[in-house]
Amino acid sequence: MGAGGADAARLDPDSRSAALSELARTEFQVLVVGGGVVGAGVALDAVTRGLSTGLVEARDFGGGTSSRSSKLIHGGLRYLEQLNFGLVREALAERSLLLETIAPHLVRPVPFLFPLTHRLWERAYVGTGVTVYDTLSLSFGHSRGLPGHHQLSRRGALKVAPGLKRSAITGAVAYWDAQVDDARYVLTLARTAAGYGAQVASRVQVRGLLREGERVTGVRAVDLETGAEIGIRAQQVVNATGVWTDEIQAMVGGRGMINLRVSKGVHLIVPKDRVHSSTGIIARTPDSVLFIIPWGRYWIIGTTDTDWVGSKTEPAASRADIDYLIGRANRLLKTPLTRDDVVGVYAGLRPLLAGDSESTSRLSREHVVAHPVPGLVLVAGGKYTTYRLMARDAVDAVVHALDWRAPPSCTDRVPLAGADGYLALWNARHRLADSSGLHVARIEHLLRRYGSLTPELLDLVAAEPSLGQPVTGADDYLRAEIVYAASHEGARHLDDVLGRRTHIAVETPDRGLAALEEIAGLIAGPLRWNSRQAAREVAHYRAGVAAERASQEAVTDADANAIRGSVPDIVPVLGVGEASGNGVDAGLGGVPGRVRGRSH
Ligand SMILES: Cc1cc2nc3c(=O)[nH]c(=O)nc-3n(C[C@H](O)[C@H](O)[C@H](O)COP(=O)(O)OP(=O)(O)OC[C@H]3O[C@@H](n4cnc5c(N)ncnc54)[C@H](O)[C@@H]3O)c2cc1C
Repeated sequence: MGAGGADAARLDPDSRSAALSELARTEFQVLVVGGGVVGAGVALDAVTRGLSTGLVEARDFGGGTSSRSSKLIHGGLRYLEQLNFGLVREALAERSLLLETIAPHLVRPVPFLFPLTHRLWERAYVGTGVTVYDTLSLSFGHSRGLPGHHQLSRRGALKVAPGLKRSAITGAVAYWDAQVDDARYVLTLARTAAGYGAQVASRVQVRGLLREGERVTGVRAVDLETGAEIGIRAQQVVNATGVWTDEIQAMVGGRGMINLRVSKGVHLIVPKDRVHSSTGIIARTPDSVLFIIPWGRYWIIGTTDTDWVGSKTEPAASRADIDYLIGRANRLLKTPLTRDDVVGVYAGLRPLLAGDSESTSRLSREHVVAHPVPGLVLVAGGKYTTYRLMARDAVDAVVHALDWRAPPSCTDRVPLAGADGYLALWNARHRLADSSGLHVARIEHLLRRYGSLTPELLDLVAAEPSLGQPVTGADDYLRAEIVYAASHEGARHLDDVLGRRTHIAVETPDRGLAALEEIAGLIAGPLRWNSRQAAREVAHYRAGVAAERASQEAVTDADANAIRGSVPDIVPVLGVGEASGNGVDAGLGGVPGRVRGRSH
C-alpha cells in the first residue's frame, strides 16, 4: 500500500518485516511509542501532515487500556456537574465527527435511560443537565447526529426498560450517546496511518532512548518476537504509552513532568436476555457511575474505579470487583443477576492526571502535552473520545520543535479505512447478501466491523467457500474474519484474534476454548506457524484462561494480580519496574481502596 492513499494497509507478517527494516534504516521526523488510541491517532495526524512517521507498539495494537474501556464516545455527563462546559462541548463535537465523518462504520448511536430515584428536584436537575448536554452538541457548528432527550414517567420508563425494578425508580430521562468497538477502532487507525505511509509494527518494545547530549535522537527497541535489537532514529519521539508513561519518563532521568495515577475499571459481559430493556441504562453510584450498555447479543456492565498497583499488562479483576458490579446492577434490576450470568470479564487501567507538574503545558483539564528534553514529547491523560485532539496537540508540539512548515492537523477530514463508501454499501446490503450467498444479518455484522472493506472478506469467501461458515463454538463470527485478522489486521497471536479483532474471549462462556483449535488452524497459514508453534499458542491461551478464571475467584487485588501474573504474555513485555518471567510488576504492593467519583 503506497503513501498518499486513503486505503487500509494490509498488516501481515511481511508488512511487519518491511516496516521493521524501514524503522531500522530511516531517520523519521516523528517516532510514536505506544499503539493505543492516542499513539495510533498521533501517527495518523503526523503522517497526514506530510511528516515521515513510525509507530511501535510493545504488544498488540490497542492491547493496553484502549481495548478495555466502556466503549462509549461521549461528552461525559458528569463534567456538567463540575460546570465544565468547554470540555463537554469539545467531546461532543468529537462525537459528531466520529459518527458522521471519521468512522460511521465503527461508531454508532446508543440510547440510554437515566433512571430517577427521587421526585421533582432530581427530574429538574437531570433534565437540565441532559438539555445542556444536547444543546452543547449542537452549538459547535456540527449537527449532533443524534435524536434529542425526552422525559419519561415511571410507566413510560418501565415500558422501555421493563427489567427495571418498579420500586427503584420514579421516572427516567432518555437520551442518546455513541459507542465504539474500541479495539477495532485502534487497529483501524493504525491501518489507516500505514495506508498513508506510516511504518507501524506491533510487539516492538522501546527499552531506552538514543541521546546526543541532552537531546533525544531516537529509541532503542527490541523486536519481542525475535529478541533482535533495533535502533530507531527520529527527530522527535512522541511518548503515548498511557499508564506506562512513567517508564518512559524514567528514561530521561525520572523527571516527573507528567504525574499519573492508575485506576482500575472492571466490566462484566452478560447475555442480552438477562436484562429486559430496549435501551442502555446509566445510574449514579456513590463512587462512580454504573453503565449497562447494549453490546450486540450482550450487555456490558461497568465499571469500578479503584487505585491499582499491580501488573499493567494484565490487570486482574477480583471476585470483589465482580460482586460489586452485580450488586450495583441488582439495585435497579427486577430479576437479579448472579455470577452464573457473567459470560466475560475485563479490566482496564485509566491513565489519570494527578496534580500539576513543573513545565507542563496543560491543554485541557483532561490531557497534557509536555516537552521534558529536546527531541521528546509526552502526551498523556484524556479519554478515548478526545484522542484526536490529544494527537493534534502532540503533533503541534512536534511541529513546533521540528521547525518544519507542516500544515495544521487535518484529521477532522480524514475518514478511517472502511468509512468511505460505507453508507452506499450499507444501502446495498441485500444485494451483497444475494451475490455472496450470506444472510443479510451476516453482511450487516461485517459492514459494522469492516465498513467498505467488507468486499475484501467476501473475496476470501468467494475464493474458499468454507470461510463463509461460522466459527464452531463462536458462531457470531465467520471463519473468514479469523483469517482476515491475521492476513490483513496485524494479529500475531491467538489472544489478538480472540480478544481484540473479535471479542470471542469475553463473548463466550468458555472464553473461546471450544473455538481455539479451529481458530489456530485458520491463522496458522497466514502467520506461517508450524504445528509445534500452533500447539504452543493453544497451550498458552488455555493457561491464560485458567489463570484469569482463578484470579476472578480471588478476593483481593493483590491475590488476583499474583494469580493472573503467573502466566505472562506469550511474548513477554518487560519494562522499567517490571520483573522478568512472571509478568508481575515489581511495584506490586498493598491492597487498593476505592477511589471516589472518577469514571469515564
Ligand atoms: C475502565 C475504563 C473505561 C473507560 N471508558 C471510556 C469511555 O467509555 N469513553 C472514553 O472516552 N474513554 C474511556 N476510558 C478512557 C480511555 O480508554 C483511555 O483514556 C484511552 O484508551 C487511553 O489510550 P492510550 O493510547 O493513552 O493508552 P493505551 O491504550 O494503554 O496505549 C498505550 C500503549 O503503549 C504501549 N506501550 C507501553 N510501553 C511501551 C514501550 N516501552 N514500547 C512500546 N509500546 C509501549 C502499550 O502496550 C499500550 O498499547 C476508559 C478507561 C478505562 C480504564
